[in-house]
Amino acid sequence: MGGKVVNRDRLKKLAKEKRFIPGVYNYCDRWCERCPLTSRCLTFSISEEEFSDPEAKDTRNEAFWNKLSGILGETLELLKESAEKWGIELETLDTTDDIEAVKAKEVATENHLLSRAARRYSQWVEDWFNEKETLFFETAAAAREGISLEETSEVIRWYQYFICAKLMRAVRGKAEEEEEGCDEFPSDADGSAKIALIAIDRSIAAWAAIRQYITDSAEGVINIIAFLDSLRQAAEKAFPNARSFMRPGFDSIDPDD
Ligand code: SF4
Repeated sequence: MGGKVVNRDRLKKLAKEKRFIPGVYNYCDRWCERCPLTSRCLTFSISEEEFSDPEAKDTRNEAFWNKLSGILGETLELLKESAEKWGIELETLDTTDDIEAVKAKEVATENHLLSRAARRYSQWVEDWFNEKETLFFETAAAAREGISLEETSEVIRWYQYFICAKLMRAVRGKAEEEEEGCDEFPSDADGSAKIALIAIDRSIAAWAAIRQYITDSAEGVINIIAFLDSLRQAAEKAFPNARSFMRPGFDSIDPDD
């Protein structure tokens, strides 16, 4: 079956269907293949109307993220215990510009501590994967804790640049909201920060799962986890309301249920 083109009438009819959650795609991670709400998302349905059984896939995806979030809980506990050893001061990151002196919003966003830290993380991931290429040939088929090395790598790669993009959007949005004296609730900046935080959580869990495959240089992975954890804390501090932001469908109670 080829890709079906959704015509205007079909689109109108589709948009009226009750199963769709309004705005569910506004604060998602755009990873439709792993999304537990594809059957409730109009954007997804438009692009993949012929998809055979979205509900079954949604259930599988939910189980996958639940498994990963179990690993996150254990990892954060471990990090707490060894905070002194592994804690990283993000404030010590080099800065080339004095943020106060920078007028242009884009440059200010680029130079924000969170943006710089997230960019550094993206590069770190790139370097790590380049260095460990052979590991994937040797162990790609093995699966620990029910999550394969391939799956954990996919999670890390999916969010490698996403975290930075969303944090920058949040930083820029917050600056604009402050500039305009706008205290609209809920704030779009908090929504962007929330999805960035979720991406950080999932990346931490994925790195923790990868660690189980690494027989040597595990310290490198622990350093990355510690860095991400510091980034997580810094983002939570900068956006204290982000965690409680309710994303349509993902966090809020669905009125149709
Ligand atoms: S809500 Fe899910 S299905 Fe819809 S665009 Fe986002 S990730 Fe894709």
